[in-house]
Amino acid sequence: MRRNVSGPVAVISMHASPLGALGRGENGGANLAVRRLCEGLAESGIPTDVFVRRDDPAAPAEEMIAPMSRLVRLTVGPPRALPKQDLADLVDAFAAAVAGHAISERRSYIVVHGHYWLGGLVAQQLRDLWHVPWVQSFHTLARAKARAGLPMDARRSAAEARLVAAADRLVSGSVAEAKDLMRLYGASRSRICVAQPGVDLRVLHPKDTIALRDELGLGGHRVLLFAGRLEPLKGAETLLDAVAALCAEERFDDVVTLVIGDDSGDGAAAGGGGERRRLEARAGGHGLQGRVRFLGAIEHEDLADYYALADICVVPSRTETFGLVALEAQALGTPVVASAVGGLTEVIADGETGILVAGREPRAFAEAIASLLDDTDRRERMGAAARLRAATFTWARAVGRIAAIYARVSRPVAVTATPCGYSDNEVMAIAG
Ligand code: UDP
Repeated sequence: MRRNVSGPVAVISMHASPLGALGRGENGGANLAVRRLCEGLAESGIPTDVFVRRDDPAAPAEEMIAPMSRLVRLTVGPPRALPKQDLADLVDAFAAAVAGHAISERRSYIVVHGHYWLGGLVAQQLRDLWHVPWVQSFHTLARAKARAGLPMDARRSAAEARLVAAADRLVSGSVAEAKDLMRLYGASRSRICVAQPGVDLRVLHPKDTIALRDELGLGGHRVLLFAGRLEPLKGAETLLDAVAALCAEERFDDVVTLVIGDDSGDGAAAGGGGERRRLEARAGGHGLQGRVRFLGAIEHEDLADYYALADICVVPSRTETFGLVALEAQALGTPVVASAVGGLTEVIADGETGILVAGREPRAFAEAIASLLDDTDRRERMGAAARLRAATFTWARAVGRIAAIYARVSRPVAVTATPCGYSDNEVMAIAG
């Protein structure tokens, strides 16, 4: 049954702008997901206003994301990037600013959609003020990070638990995140909807891979690729240690590793000058100068050429809610060697489109990478299978699911079918 949504949705993404440059600071998958969601909703005729905190005094107060989607930058706190702990103290002021903005325009919303725990804290207040349904996406969870051995953020964890209990619907980016919501936070299955992200090949298509290879002076070198915000949870250190093990073998003398991305907020806070400096020092300590290159953040659209020229993309994350980089690499026909964690186990078909490695042992990563470097035919077969698999993940499906939730919560009486809960395949995955 097709249900329509009438009226705009207020999207609260206090810390992450959908128009932010990806791969640095806090900007990564969550920003892209909000952007694609709003573009897709606009295509379905559902308008959105996305409220973010101004972190740059020069940025305009408003910008269009898509024809029916508007980004609104609210000046709350100093107009510069702030650590997340400081943002948490601005939640009430941000909620008041969104409410004030709505009054100033006499605009009302049919749903409020909170993103990340900070956006959730704001959305909860707006739900209570506006008496509209509240849909919540977390993108990452404090308890999942702590389970992976990263420091526990007790304030965030407690806030997430309260949000999970209070939101009208929860959107998870993977079955793995849905399980975490249930097991780590006690969420009830009936309120969770899984909406896995996708890849937009209209944006991510290679322009001139040969020219890029020349520009980087890669000649006939085989290439390993890492892309992501640089922070400990992304596990780039594991890759460097694995590359050091590989480089001890002469047959891998031609292998070059490209590291794309810059310090994440959490990375910069890691001390000692940031995660990038730490990783560069580690590569230097292994004697990998020239064999590992740190390229900084690359414009999202330009990443396609890097994915396409790489022989293998490596995603050694300690935890990953979904893993867009792994999906994007596959979409460009590149097999992935990744940690067997979180959404990566849904994105990658182990042994078919890449290799999933259990644990964080660099030698296990080195062996998986070596096995693909040693077998060109297998690598090419995997690359072709990866492309097909990636094509099954579409933003259109994610947007359709989320639009269905909006319709369900905003007009609950008219609805008989349930777009929430799991599909049969997802239930099978959970059962397995
Ligand atoms: N990305 C980018 N440029 C970079 C590094 C990353 O555009 O220099 C993008 C990448 O294409 C992906 C996103 O940032 O879409 C990272 O998403 P992922 O789910 O892999 O990680 P997250 O940032 O959500 O932890």
